[in-house]
Amino acid sequence: MLEASSQNSVTPPVKLRLAIQKSGRLHDDSIRLLKECGIDISNGVNKLKADASNFPIEVYFLRDDDIPQYVEDAVADIGFVGENVVFEKNKKLIVGEKLGFGKCRLCIAIRKGEDYTGAGFLANKRIATSYPVLVRQFLNKNNINAEIHEISGSVEIAPGIGLADSICDLVSSGSTLFMNGLKEVETILESQAVLIQNENLSEAKKQLLSRLLFRIQAVKKAKNNKYILLNAPNDNLEKIISLLPGMKSPTVLPLAEPGWSSVHSVLNENEFWDIIEQLKEAGAQGILVIPIEKMIV
Ligand code: ATP
Ligand code: ZN
Repeated sequence: MLEASSQNSVTPPVKLRLAIQKSGRLHDDSIRLLKECGIDISNGVNKLKADASNFPIEVYFLRDDDIPQYVEDAVADIGFVGENVVFEKNKKLIVGEKLGFGKCRLCIAIRKGEDYTGAGFLANKRIATSYPVLVRQFLNKNNINAEIHEISGSVEIAPGIGLADSICDLVSSGSTLFMNGLKEVETILESQAVLIQNENLSEAKKQLLSRLLFRIQAVKKAKNNKYILLNAPNDNLEKIISLLPGMKSPTVLPLAEPGWSSVHSVLNENEFWDIIEQLKEAGAQGILVIPIEKMIV
């Protein structure tokens, strides 16, 4: 029989504490990535934190700007947050895996009618931004002296109301700039969501993180690849196989119809259309392209 004192010393199971954005542009994609990793937190998105039912992880919902600080302070072990925020905040933490969502660029924009002559154009101008650290770095790198006006939102209206001559803000399509009579002239950072990590994780937490990373990488690989099935005339089989990279070599099965085979392989998104065209030229028919859910190599 267990004595009371030894019962008290039982330690709770280790959980990885993950901080994600509470609401906003990164929220849905963060939840989706977890789901694709088989981690279900559907019961708690309206609270401050939620437990996953099927992985030792606890998810905290926070403002994205606060996530680097919480991870540095070990209030959370890891976080999903934009590189723009990570580099602006410049906290002591480990910046890891890129997550493939939240893509945008941090750009300098000026009034549409003005002639941009290079970074020197910004000398002695007033630049409105929510990213003073990154803008200062850009100006210093180019040896330019300019005045930075830090504002926390609606940066794109600053030139219109006479608060600044130019702005530095996040852009994805550019339509907000256009509507405010501005044009993009410099990209100072290409950004996407990344996984950040506290510098002093325990061994047990590092092990949980490597399990999570293994899943994230499998999801990312699957997104970049397609499964392809096609029918190949046996006379051209060698040529068709030589066009397919595959994970090892393609699978080739005889078809019921004599003289034809079925070929299965995996193609990377980047080379996809080129290879499909060459396959057709080589006589491939009935080409089927199927999304892959997870890819473990
Ligand atoms: P919070 O309340 O969490 O502080 P927020 O208003 O700062 O929210 P969002 O507008 O939701 O934040 O943007 C969060 C992140 O989404 C940005 O920091 C950036 O990494 C990414 N992002 C992707 N595309 C864009 C875009 N076009 N404009 C702004 N942010 C973008
Ligand atoms: Zn924010």
